[in-house]
Amino acid sequence: MNVLVINSGSSSIKYQLFAMPEAKVLAKGLLEKIGEETSALKHTAVEKGKEKKLEQKVADHKAGMSLIFSLLTDKEVGVISDMNEISGVGHRVVHGGEAFSNSTLITDETVKAIEACCEIAPLHNPAGLQGISACKEILKDVKMVAVFDTSFHQTIPDYAYMYAVPYEWYDKYKVRRYGFHGTSHKYVYGEFCKAANKPNANVIVCHLGNGASVTAVKEGKSVDTSMGLTPLEGLVMGTRSGDMDPAVPTFIMSKENMSAKDMDNVLNKKSGLLGVSCLSNDMRNLEEAAKSNTKAELAITMFCYRVKKYIGSYMAVLGHVDGIVFTGGIGENSPYIRGRILEGLDELGIKCDADKNSKARGCANFEKDNAPIKLYVIATDEEKAIAMDTYNIALK
Ligand code: ADP
Repeated sequence: MNVLVINSGSSSIKYQLFAMPEAKVLAKGLLEKIGEETSALKHTAVEKGKEKKLEQKVADHKAGMSLIFSLLTDKEVGVISDMNEISGVGHRVVHGGEAFSNSTLITDETVKAIEACCEIAPLHNPAGLQGISACKEILKDVKMVAVFDTSFHQTIPDYAYMYAVPYEWYDKYKVRRYGFHGTSHKYVYGEFCKAANKPNANVIVCHLGNGASVTAVKEGKSVDTSMGLTPLEGLVMGTRSGDMDPAVPTFIMSKENMSAKDMDNVLNKKSGLLGVSCLSNDMRNLEEAAKSNTKAELAITMFCYRVKKYIGSYMAVLGHVDGIVFTGGIGENSPYIRGRILEGLDELGIKCDADKNSKARGCANFEKDNAPIKLYVIATDEEKAIAMDTYNIALK
């Protein structure tokens, strides 16, 4: 039984085909630049060890899905002989608003509710909907499941998700904290509980990638998270500012005669590590440059300091912490950044073993022997989590 996982962006489609229930990856790929003159597709048939790259015009998401299906059933790089061998499709949907606290079977009502969330996620939800409708047109009656970035955080209590602004903004526009990366935080939390043999643990999960967020998980439930109404709040990210005095944007908008749209663009695409370093949003480049570039060093220090602050505040939120987990491109691959975030926290029970930290990969702990708080690196796998949800909800 096979499940196809689709992550549809505004001009891209990422996909993975899994054999279930063992969640073995059969094929994966990425189609980019949909709608441009030349679109690019890279497809990999995992077990065959074969790869195909295509460059051709792909006008829209439906044409993109057709191309992906033709590769999945291709004689040379295909992994199934017929589309009927796809039993279910799992779609990543960014924003489920308050309507979805779990992954859900896609029906006409589900689609309407996702459409209703487009107002608060205008950049992301329309893309997810395009992927859903393209798949539906081609695969017809195959069961599909929507998996939301926000749903894991629906357990956050009101005093943590409300902003201290006029209440009517919540009533009228549903302005509140939603949080994102929920699929990753939930998956990594589950892996921690298994690896550390601590069911229902209290854990601080740090998902540190180009986008980054921290979540406080209490006995399996998200009780606070650093991202907010949109993914802009919280940590210093690759190109997003994260937290700041909300007066800063209005001050600069009046000084520089900027529109709300311009400001939104700067805070999302030109700030964060890139904005401060004036160099790059890529942590690898910054680690290299920091040896001789003070702005690169400052950007790294700000990044680590912000994560440290969240860890401290979520320790207070949780009262008792069993573990801190690092995931995402930076969290999984940079012992240097993990070490800098955790330095000076011994008194709080957070004791990083430098040697273990330097070797930690995949799923590995790196706290000092007998330290009260476990420290883990755990590779996230959002696609696998989506495939599992699709299987459990639609096919089991
Ligand atoms: P996204 O949020 O786009 O999914 P990723 O989780 O792939 O991002 O993370 C991308 C980030 O991970 C980049 O800043 C990249 O520099 C960083 N990264 C990847 N490998 C390393 C490494 N070995 N050392 C430091 N940073 C790394």
